[in-house]
Amino acid sequence: MSRFLRFASFRNSLAVRVISSTVLLSILILWPTGSALYNQLSRGISNVTLDSSVVETRYAVLNAQYRLLLAQRADVDVIHQIIEEVFINSSTVLGTSVNGREVILLLTNAESSAAASFEKTSNGILKTSIPSELRTRVQGSGAVEWARSWIQYPGGDLTPAVVAGAKLDIPGIGKFEMYMLYSLDNQNETLKIVREALLVTGLVLLLLLGLITWLVVRQVVHPVKTAAKIAEQFAAGDYNQRMYVESKDEISRLGISFNEMAESLQAQMGKFERLSQVQQRFVSDVSHELRTPLTTLRMAAEVIHDVKEDLDPNIERSSELLIAQLDRFERLLEDLLEVSRFDADVAVLESIQFDLASLLRESIKDLAPVAKKQEVEVILLGADKPVLITGDARRIERILRNLINNAIAHADSKPVKVSLLYSLEDVAIGVRDYGLGLDEASAPRVFDRFWRADPSRARTRGGTGLGLSIALEDARLHNGELQVWGRPAQGSHFILTLPRVAGDLISDYLIPVEPKDSPPTSL
Ligand code: ADP
Repeated sequence: MSRFLRFASFRNSLAVRVISSTVLLSILILWPTGSALYNQLSRGISNVTLDSSVVETRYAVLNAQYRLLLAQRADVDVIHQIIEEVFINSSTVLGTSVNGREVILLLTNAESSAAASFEKTSNGILKTSIPSELRTRVQGSGAVEWARSWIQYPGGDLTPAVVAGAKLDIPGIGKFEMYMLYSLDNQNETLKIVREALLVTGLVLLLLLGLITWLVVRQVVHPVKTAAKIAEQFAAGDYNQRMYVESKDEISRLGISFNEMAESLQAQMGKFERLSQVQQRFVSDVSHELRTPLTTLRMAAEVIHDVKEDLDPNIERSSELLIAQLDRFERLLEDLLEVSRFDADVAVLESIQFDLASLLRESIKDLAPVAKKQEVEVILLGADKPVLITGDARRIERILRNLINNAIAHADSKPVKVSLLYSLEDVAIGVRDYGLGLDEASAPRVFDRFWRADPSRARTRGGTGLGLSIALEDARLHNGELQVWGRPAQGSHFILTLPRVAGDLISDYLIPVEPKDSPPTSL
């Protein structure tokens, strides 16, 4: 039963839909069929009752008439005696039978003064039980006439009945009508039983239909559900998942197709994985290999640089350019090696407890010459008190330097605002500049490797195009987040949020991405 409930509680499921529509359609078919059957039965029972009532009445009236004819010219008391016997034979004694049958004798035309005393009803029922319309018909007809009416008992009780009557002649006394009233109580009782039986049968049938549909649907839904689960696991990255194929029906064909698709996808994924590993290795190997010749080159360049005063001004200038480009080359190699460490999943956190506020002050101090050169004022807010956090100080410093350095480079000689906010669980650093800014489409792309808003400008500036992608990886290694906001000519806003202890979850983003000092976005 609980399995059924679990099955049925699955809202909007195929099973629930099929079962409910089957039950609904069954009701739509069973209800009119049952009603038609009931109507036919009740009509049949009613007709049988009617026919037998008419026949019985005809026999009773003929019998009475015959006996009265035989007793012609007899004493009034004898005739009373005959009528009494007719009544006893034709009616049931009150309270002895469920199927009450009553007799009424009504005077039509008196021929003697004693006629009125012959009007009679069995068991004291009221004469008004005979509808006047029926009386008119009986008086004008030679046959038995009938109508539906009620037997009215003296106490006020009413019983539905069929009333049938015919003319009765009491020679020398007068013309009468004799009516027999047949209670329909029995018939109604039978119909009630039929009605109840039909209802119970209908309900049991509905239940059985629902149950059968459930069993049938289960056979289809169960494998579909299993297939969906396997497909979900496959989509989640478990490429070893396969469907179990045991027969040759449509579901199994689906399973075979799925397995073929899974097979080919797994092969493709394997190929990509190998390719990506080869690429990673290649980048890492090339970077390593380039280090040695680069060191030699640097040494040679420095030798030339050291004696630059003795050289031709053109050569002097070239040696300076050479040193600058070698610096840049070295940085690029370092970044490439760092990126390949992230790709190979070998980047590790070396967590220690340190004061983030002083790290921030140090970073800004180190970048002061760059800021001075660019004529950019760097304003630090919220770093007056120590803010102890646990994390990899080298990586966090690298993130901060990158953000502040970028802000200075793009500040367009306007001030750069660095703010530190902290709670018990989290810390956040916002780096805001009011310079070139970024358009909305470019903002999320700044974390892509080698992506630059303006490649020609960046090349002259000496950036590697890997800084922010490494910063994001560093932040995520701490379970932190790096977010960006930017508008052209309104500046940019980079927010680094970190849990106080590396690896914990961030509970609150303390600095909103959209800076408060920006003009509201137009609607
Ligand atoms: P790099 O600075 O070496 O080019 P980054 O990964 O640090 O590489 O930055 C990628 C690009 O993002 C930059 O080239 C620049 O176009 C854009 N960018 C970064 N910081 C800012 C900023 N504060 N304002 C505008 N653009 C920025």
